[in-house]
Amino acid sequence: MYRKKMRGMYISKKALKNQFDPSKFPRETYLLCKLRWGESDRSWIHWVKNYSDNYHAEVYFLEKIFRMKPYTNVNCSITWYLSWSPCVNCCYEILDFLERHKNVKIDIHVARLYFKDSEGTHRGLKKLARSTQVKINVMNMEGKFSCALWDRERYCWYFCCRWKIQPKDFKRNYLPGQHPQVVYLLYEIRWRNGSIWRNWFSNNRNQHAEVNFLENCFSDVPPAPCSITWFLSTSPCGKCSRRILEFLRTHRNVTLEIYAAKLFRHQDMRNRQGLCNLVMNGVSIRIMNLADYSYCWKRFVAYQHGEDDYWPQNFAAYIFLNWRELGHIFLGLPPLLPY
Ligand SMILES: [Zn+2]
Ligand SMILES: [Zn+2]
Repeated sequence: MYRKKMRGMYISKKALKNQFDPSKFPRETYLLCKLRWGESDRSWIHWVKNYSDNYHAEVYFLEKIFRMKPYTNVNCSITWYLSWSPCVNCCYEILDFLERHKNVKIDIHVARLYFKDSEGTHRGLKKLARSTQVKINVMNMEGKFSCALWDRERYCWYFCCRWKIQPKDFKRNYLPGQHPQVVYLLYEIRWRNGSIWRNWFSNNRNQHAEVNFLENCFSDVPPAPCSITWFLSTSPCGKCSRRILEFLRTHRNVTLEIYAAKLFRHQDMRNRQGLCNLVMNGVSIRIMNLADYSYCWKRFVAYQHGEDDYWPQNFAAYIFLNWRELGHIFLGLPPLLPY
């Protein structure tokens, strides 16, 4: 039914990383495809790239790879991961194709936009997006890498967990009763279009993790409405709290939610005041509970097979203490915990 000889099912991890890393600008376009007929739970995977300038990957796929089944009463769902968004011609080719194949739907995820300033491209993409047979999105950026997260389906073109943090680093730094040198900030940015970016920062010699986030993460991101969640190994210090408020003042359409594993030098009035100011300005601050640990583990940690969950029951007492102390901070009461 399908010709497999042009390209195989699998692509090397190296090629994937180079082609789908949105900070790079490769010359080729890669198209990774998953295709499913009807309600079947079996899907077929394949990948192609553009064939010189004349044959773009999208058209190549639709014309040379895709084979219609003889019956048209069964729906066909196609998912594409494209390293570049379709050019204007391809947009129209895709629409033409869908016009001829009403039972096909295409869910397109792109790693980066091709000719993003061209009017023509905009028009083409808008038309695509308006089609009821198409969904088009920028890939969920798992940090710098666009992660297709297909490992569970044991597909080779899984983008490795390189961006994630090591289990031992997570465990060590998110202990609620100790204060290691390194502070971690795991973040999620939820955009209006439903895409979620996840990655993490830590502090370095010059800057706290929070400042690293504010300076690096939003420097080249358009000020679109979004909600940010941080999972911090330690709550923000007084200085960082001020920086956060400055940032929120200049980014009115951004909301921030902070989960902290423990409080940073909670005896210091400046830190207490900082947290109060954050809360008074609409930032939500909570102490991480066991479910939050489990959540972070599943999404941010490069855990090994068989370590699918992390539910550190023995943290419960510390979580409770930190939670009570945070309550005291918000109420303007003196410190409870001696350390
Ligand atoms: Zn094209
Ligand atoms: Zn700080």
